[in-house]
Amino acid sequence: MKEGNILSAIYTGKTKNLGVIGYPIHHSLSPVIQNTALQSMHLDYAYIAMPVRENELEAAVKGLKALNFTGFNITIPHKINIIKYLDEIDQSASLIGAVNTVLIKNDRLYGYNTDYEGFISAFQSVKFTLKRINTVVLGAGGAARAVIYGLLHAGVGSVHIAARNAEKAKKLADDFKELGNISSSDWNEKMFQEILPKTDLLVNTTPLGMDMYIDKMPPVDITMLPSNAFVYDIIYTPEKTKLLVEAEKYGYTVLNGEYMLAGQGAAALEKWSGCGKIDVDLMRIALHEALLKKL
Ligand code: NAP
Repeated sequence: MKEGNILSAIYTGKTKNLGVIGYPIHHSLSPVIQNTALQSMHLDYAYIAMPVRENELEAAVKGLKALNFTGFNITIPHKINIIKYLDEIDQSASLIGAVNTVLIKNDRLYGYNTDYEGFISAFQSVKFTLKRINTVVLGAGGAARAVIYGLLHAGVGSVHIAARNAEKAKKLADDFKELGNISSSDWNEKMFQEILPKTDLLVNTTPLGMDMYIDKMPPVDITMLPSNAFVYDIIYTPEKTKLLVEAEKYGYTVLNGEYMLAGQGAAALEKWSGCGKIDVDLMRIALHEALLKKL
């Protein structure tokens, strides 16, 4: 088997099965990043994307178990609904309220959330320390839950959630208040603007900057951030959202969501293969190349 060449894999009766379920799924780059890692590590697994509609989730989960899959990823729209079909979920997935990785072992289904691990792994890769820093999370949806859990778990000093819907932001802050210093506001409030000069890390978890919002960015006056602030947008298409382009203009360190996506994949593969640390960079480079080729 040649390194990094997906077409060179030879599957046999011994090959173990992995995959991702979601709907739609044709855009998923998980097969690219997982198969690149599997082949470069000479692991005898195959990873495929499987379209599963909402009303077929239970049947699909039973099918994957019956087919002796080692595990699978779960993406939109099943990350919450999958929970009721699992035998156990770990504490972080339970607090986040969503599962993106399932391991099937001894006929039991174990659920994990590796999105938060992927989000955090990015900071290790760029050597940025999270301990005791002040952070702002923009948006209060599903990805924000994994991001907030990851930040508090990593020991940041504070998290402020700013969103267009202050009620949703408050509900999210309440859900995580046992884990650390967390507050919330409408992002148009004056109080939010006053937080910015003390913010070390700003994370965008809204879709502003991608698809139909490509020319948009959250309403944040980034010039108010300290000069050494870090601006992280979890979007990875385009490579640089308007927020990141603006942040770079003012000299801030910036990062997009490629590390998060690759990192969640690496953490999932660690659980399935049991072979220790997976090289996230290998997956990130495969992802980056796939994005450039628009696979
Ligand atoms: P979600 O659950 O729908 O949440 C989106 C959040 O953004 C909500 O707070 C929503 O506000 C807000 N929002 C949506 N449209 C908005 C607009 N036009 N103006 C202002 N706020 C808006 O979505 P999600 O699953 O959290 O995903 C959010 C983003 O993260 C997506 O772009 C996704 O691609 C990205 N993501 C990246 C990774 C990665 O691995 N890099 C992983 C997961 C997600 P309301 O609640 O008021 O609607």
